[in-house]
Amino acid sequence: MRELKITPIRNGTVIDHITNGLAFEVLRILGPRQLGRDSTISVAVHVRSGKLGWKDIVKVENIELTPRTVNAIALIAPTATISIIHDFRVREKRTVDLPAKIVGVLRCPNANCISNQPEPLESEFDVVARRPTVLACAFCERRVDEFLTHLA
Ligand SMILES: [Zn+2]
Repeated sequence: MRELKITPIRNGTVIDHITNGLAFEVLRILGPRQLGRDSTISVAVHVRSGKLGWKDIVKVENIELTPRTVNAIALIAPTATISIIHDFRVREKRTVDLPAKIVGVLRCPNANCISNQPEPLESEFDVVARRPTVLACAFCERRVDEFLTHLA
């Protein structure tokens, strides 16, 4: 295996095996709110990968992802792996995994859904199929199988 072309990080999170082309969507999910003043983000786009052909990688210093963020990444990049780095070493590595319920990550596409009313409830979706992922709104049962445009 070839060396990664981006520098190692001392502490933080590496999101690897992102479907090629989706690194910027992952960045959008991470969002400026989550990133501290002392976190540098490195992005590698179109990296050769045995498993996927080509992949993207996002490295974020000094950040551990919230479960909600991991769920959002799992929806748009189900092949991604997440490694927690401490002192340049991988302390934990796992594939992203969708729980049975996704809370607060997506907006329901049904404008009349109770989760979209002036005093909105937190959105809630049940995973009704995997590979490919299909969700159903817990309030109005609207099905969603495209997630990029519905991220909350
Ligand atoms: Zn709904």
